[in-house]
Amino acid sequence: METAIGIDLGTTFSAVSVIDESGKPVIVKNALGESLTPSVIFFESANNTVVGSEAKEMQAFGESNVASFFKRNMGDVNFELNFHGKSFSATDLSAILLKKLKDDAETTLNRKIAKAVVTVPAYFNDLQKKATIKAAEKAELEVLRIINEPTAAAIAFGVTQSKNQTILVYDLGGGTFDVTILKIEDSTIQVIATGGDHELGGKDWDNRLIGYFAAQFKNEFGEDPLDDAVSFNDLLVRAENVKKQLSTSQTSKFYIVYDGNRGNYEITRAKFEEITQDLLQRTTSKAEEILQEANLTWEQLDGVLLVGGSTRMPMVINWVEQMSGKPPIKGINVDEAVCLGAAIQANIELSESASVPVFSLGGRISKIEDVMSHSLGLIAENSDRSRYINSIIIPKNKKIPASEVRPYQIRTGRQTQELEIYLTQGETEIIGECKIIGKYVFSGIEYVSSGISIIDIEYQYDENGTVQIAATQRETGKKLSMEEVPLPADMSWIDRAPEQIQETAVPHISVVIAVDLSGSMSGHPLAEAQKAAKGFVEKLDLSNASVALMPFADRVEENPELTQNAKKLTNGINQWSSMMDSGTVGWGNSTHPFDESLKLLKKRDNPRFVIVLADGVWSYQDRAIASAKKCAAEGIEIIAIGFGGADKKFLQAIATSDENALFTNLENLVSSFSKIAQVLTETGGKGSIRLNQ
Ligand code: AMP
Repeated sequence: METAIGIDLGTTFSAVSVIDESGKPVIVKNALGESLTPSVIFFESANNTVVGSEAKEMQAFGESNVASFFKRNMGDVNFELNFHGKSFSATDLSAILLKKLKDDAETTLNRKIAKAVVTVPAYFNDLQKKATIKAAEKAELEVLRIINEPTAAAIAFGVTQSKNQTILVYDLGGGTFDVTILKIEDSTIQVIATGGDHELGGKDWDNRLIGYFAAQFKNEFGEDPLDDAVSFNDLLVRAENVKKQLSTSQTSKFYIVYDGNRGNYEITRAKFEEITQDLLQRTTSKAEEILQEANLTWEQLDGVLLVGGSTRMPMVINWVEQMSGKPPIKGINVDEAVCLGAAIQANIELSESASVPVFSLGGRISKIEDVMSHSLGLIAENSDRSRYINSIIIPKNKKIPASEVRPYQIRTGRQTQELEIYLTQGETEIIGECKIIGKYVFSGIEYVSSGISIIDIEYQYDENGTVQIAATQRETGKKLSMEEVPLPADMSWIDRAPEQIQETAVPHISVVIAVDLSGSMSGHPLAEAQKAAKGFVEKLDLSNASVALMPFADRVEENPELTQNAKKLTNGINQWSSMMDSGTVGWGNSTHPFDESLKLLKKRDNPRFVIVLADGVWSYQDRAIASAKKCAAEGIEIIAIGFGGADKKFLQAIATSDENALFTNLENLVSSFSKIAQVLTETGGKGSIRLNQ
């Protein structure tokens, strides 16, 4: 029978697991009989290595031919270490470690192993994941799948559950905090949203302790022990021990010896909790952000699962209970869960492809669905072309595998043209906060007589969350040839203003989507409106268009914002349901969106559009018509879409032309919005929409 293992390839320790004969995931011990193998390599010579505890001991004795913590440099092309005249990348080093894990597992299990599922941190980007796959290949392991560590921990818990439920995984490790929300339903574990703060973890609690004691030392002796790096490292190790001790005791002691002075100090658990309280608050902010992305509230969760070494702190357990209103779920081994989850995934992958039966899991789970943990975008220009921004094209939390096609407008010249795409990963518009993960050059774009060509760019994410890109010119239907080229060493241009090429640029389009959220929209109409608005955003070239969402009923939602960020727009559209439930903008029809739209669009150049969606009769039609006319006088085009009880004549009165007024039914809402997006994109906002034809 074929065996596939699960591997937790950790920064400090790694582990291997497998599904045993009874269908349970178990840890596979290494050749020394240990459950965990230190991720440390000692180079006896360039080709002879010792991996694990012995290498770690060599390092402790001061041996310099030792590599550790290389996981932090995965995907970094500039990182290399030299041993005995030979250089090693982080991928090479991970390959040596993986080979050792594989060899040991083969010895322990007494069978050949060729396949594995490997876990990576949720923050790993495309390059880091691809580097991990490459390392496994070098170690003669076929990667069945790469999965995120918090997802793996959630799987390990999920398979032990017999009832359907929705849980939040609160994973506080040494250096990162991750939140994953999953639904366990029938035979499927489905991740619905994930995210994290990769600058928050147990180390921050250690640092607070050091700061607390160092301040007392400084008070007493007038010197700062943190000025010296050697002293700092020693304090760091001992502060971590104090922290751990405070998880079981009420007080702990600490001393600092520095520059001939010795200070003795004590700290209570209460004081420790006081000086680190704000760190917990940060976990709440992040958890609530992810809950919102999943469109859920604390009340809708069945429980919170604690994962990661730092959740052993009593303050975390109490905090989670207070925050979620429920005692946290315990019962999984936080050190092993990630690895065990990988073995479960490996078994599912095998049974999907195997002609021979594999071990049954004992439980009922046969399918695991994950989502993208990052948003993907490209470098674009902002609306007035004064700076470069990250334009999010595919928002995170999209189910994988997936493919998505986005349009990109380009002005074509007489000569064959090229299109350069810089692929980004990140959650904000600010390029400095995002990672640029690739440069793609598409060539062979043909001249089109309208001057503006649409290139449909297809993004594909496979199960590993890695990206492939292809492009087709819409007018010719031809696939463009693509070359993935290295990123230029000098990327400083992204901090400067884009070159002024106003006369040749495709005009930037600004659109307000004004949706009537009065009571009659509740239920199915709202769901269709949300689908239509999302479809609209997907079909627009957001590298060259901004959209604002403007829900209204008795009031217009406060502070609508024009954005090129698909993630903000998707989240905003998702929120319409909860806005409707809580009556954020009322349930009646006493306002209209035109004054607010004018305010918002005033600062923008043409082409500008307001797309209004209405299903009823507004209370003050005359006011709305007068304000709509003011928009039209400014050159803003108004497209009015109505269905249900909407008043046809009124729609025509607010629309800029009769062609811009459309009375449709719910079933056609999605296609109507798509059509508008398509026309806006293909004509650069200059063409007539002609909805009624
Ligand atoms: P992980 O990355 O999940 O292995 O978590 C490592 C972090 O957990 C480190 O910051 C440790 O200091 C912390 N940790 C481990 N055990 C405890 C404990 N008993 N009390 C407090 N923190 C702990």
